[in-house]
Amino acid sequence: MSSECVPVLIIGSGPAGYTAAIYAARADLKPVMISGSEPGGQLMWTTDVENYPGFKDVIQGPWLMEEMKAQALHMGTKFIEDRITRVDVTKRPFECEGESGKIYKSKALIIATGAQAKWLGLESEEKFRGYGVSGCAVCDGFFFKNKEVVVIGGGNTAVEEALYLTRHASLVTVIHRRDSFRAEKILQDKLFKNDKIKVLWNSEVEEILGGDDPFLHVTGVCVKDTDTQKRTTLPCKGVFVAIGHRPQTDLFTTILRLDAHNYIEVEPGTTKTSVPGVFAAGDVTDKVYRQAVTAAGLGCMAALEAAAYLDE
Ligand code: NDP
Repeated sequence: MSSECVPVLIIGSGPAGYTAAIYAARADLKPVMISGSEPGGQLMWTTDVENYPGFKDVIQGPWLMEEMKAQALHMGTKFIEDRITRVDVTKRPFECEGESGKIYKSKALIIATGAQAKWLGLESEEKFRGYGVSGCAVCDGFFFKNKEVVVIGGGNTAVEEALYLTRHASLVTVIHRRDSFRAEKILQDKLFKNDKIKVLWNSEVEEILGGDDPFLHVTGVCVKDTDTQKRTTLPCKGVFVAIGHRPQTDLFTTILRLDAHNYIEVEPGTTKTSVPGVFAAGDVTDKVYRQAVTAAGLGCMAALEAAAYLDE
């Protein structure tokens, strides 16, 4: 089943995708957005959002995504619930095949498939997500003013998150499964100099502890020392899991240039990928900031760059 060729196809429906859709629609590019399997993206898993500009009062992540969707539709975006399973950028127009069997053809393509935080895979972690367990210190750190928190991981993200959290928390304990960090030395130096941060080496979090509904909140973590196998309970109010992110780029590994961590490479300062006419925006290309507002900014850039490409 093949559809007509449209000027711009957007894959993914997070802040980057919706913002690209709003700008592309306003440029009269009649964008078609393919939602993906988790419409709304990572913000659908977030509760309180306090750092998206324009809202003085706290808003909810899913509500923000509904509003973005409504705005994109209102501007004239065609929204299709489907999941792209194959992309061919060797053909012009580009061809994307959906799970539905439908073929979508477009002159320009904006990829906004996002990334997913990696989680430990504990049942208790799932239970307390949004209730003390977080994957983003910049988003949720503020809620832990003068409280004790833990950060799990040993890479750049974990160390940066721990440093960031010292602005709010009274004590940050970094729990790492080995006896050295893989984070850059300059970040490690900052961390070791900060007396609000403690490190628990050779330690694994086995369970996140806390109260049950209607008092769902974290009270501590059960930690196993991997040398001695001894288990201890560490009281804390917040758990920040920082063990890496997985950009959703499986569809593009052989057709676009990716970096060593599988993020889509773009020309610096732009959203242009290694294939002219294909643009990448949001967390699928950004491993540094990973914020809704930066994703939205990149979505805007992708739409404007797609418009300029089509004008050429
Ligand atoms: P990394 O993959 O670099 O680090 C993940 C960390 O989590 C590792 O220390 C790893 O342990 C640990 N880990 C992984 N799985 C588990 C698990 N199941 N249980 C416990 N611990 C686990 O991810 P990052 O997100 O830190 O960084 C990804 C990339 O992004 C890197 O290239 C990084 O440099 C870059 N980045 C750059 C930033 C910047 O430039 N400002 C900011 C943030 C990230 P182990 O070490 O034992 O494998």
